Amino acid sequence: MKEKAPKSLRLHIGIFGRANVGKSSLLNLIAGHETALVSPVPGTTTDAVEKTMELLPVGPVVFIDTAGIDDKSELGHLRVKNTRKIFERTEAALLVCEAGIFGGYERELLREFDERKIPALIVFNKEDLLENRKEFEKDFLQKGREFIFSNARDASKRDETVNKIKDFLMRIQGGKKEKSILSHLLPAGGLAVFIIPIDKEAPKGRIILPQVMAIRDLLDADKSSICITEKNWPEILSKLSVKPDLVVCDSQVADLMVSRAPKDIKCTTFSIIFSGFKGEMAEFAAAAALVNKLKPSDKIGILEACSHHPIEDDIGRVKLPKWLEKKAGGKLEIDVFSGRKMPEELEKYKLLINCGGCMLTGAEMKNRQEKARKISIPLTNYGMAIGACFGVLERLLEPFPEALKAYRENL
Ligand code: SF4
Repeated sequence: MKEKAPKSLRLHIGIFGRANVGKSSLLNLIAGHETALVSPVPGTTTDAVEKTMELLPVGPVVFIDTAGIDDKSELGHLRVKNTRKIFERTEAALLVCEAGIFGGYERELLREFDERKIPALIVFNKEDLLENRKEFEKDFLQKGREFIFSNARDASKRDETVNKIKDFLMRIQGGKKEKSILSHLLPAGGLAVFIIPIDKEAPKGRIILPQVMAIRDLLDADKSSICITEKNWPEILSKLSVKPDLVVCDSQVADLMVSRAPKDIKCTTFSIIFSGFKGEMAEFAAAAALVNKLKPSDKIGILEACSHHPIEDDIGRVKLPKWLEKKAGGKLEIDVFSGRKMPEELEKYKLLINCGGCMLTGAEMKNRQEKARKISIPLTNYGMAIGACFGVLERLLEPFPEALKAYRENL
């Protein structure tokens, strides 16, 4: 079976619009089969329906069919709430409208897309119902918005509609430079050593997604990596005929890695690397400086982006609080939140610490940083906070001069 791209790396495309304009039919047309529930009764789609697919030549994508958010009923309230969450992870939007109908509701959605810098394509569905198409088109062209006509119920129009949507998505992708995870940190033909502890938290029979992605990123760039457990560090160095260009470890063994790494070897952690891959690393680093200023009774919010089953030695609930309290020299008030949606009312915290966010898309991670910025509460992540607790963060940030500068300036 072909391995699929991880969901967090797929382009997330939200399908928005009023209830019953044909959003689900459009998704079925793109997918080529029934995915979403389609009914002539307005508001049949209550929760978002997701469809992952390989949309060639665009690449791996997730379409998210949202419920219409123009419904004033009580159930509609729930739909509106669910749909608003989708904005957080949308990287491209299809705004579906009934051909000829474009009002305040659609303008409000476009305003929200603009504010969030989400590129949007308007899809005028049910084009067969439009009587004065030429006039409407001429009038709409003046608005300077990108739009297409479609009839999602007409399978003969499938190729035409899907190709136009692909063109739009390709243009968005074209504008974005593909980001490397860590290969840009190594010279051509370079070598990295990955230190991966195989402890209680390590899943049975496999390694976790960020580690797999790091290995693949180097292979894509024709660079190499070797994986070892912390027990073999640094003895492995004497067996290598070349010095590694970078050593990367799990945050929990960062102090061990750094204390035994020769000064001329660059070191960092997977969590720090991913803080830059999905978000603004310098901002996480600046916020981490606050770990050094914590005092007993300070309030800390720990944000885990998924609700995994915590184990006895859980990082967010046991280990990190213990390290933070040691650093602060006394008991802290720590609340742990878990879930994809960032909690509201975080103003009371002195510092927020996000998990590695392996399930989050880049858009979601940046949205979290934006929300923290808006309420002026520093947000760092596990890797940075652990590095600061261990007193080794400056060494871990050496491969990232901008983040190192931000950290030092805020110390
Ligand atoms: S890093 Fe965050 S998103 Fe990934 S498994 Fe842990 S809690 Fe979930």
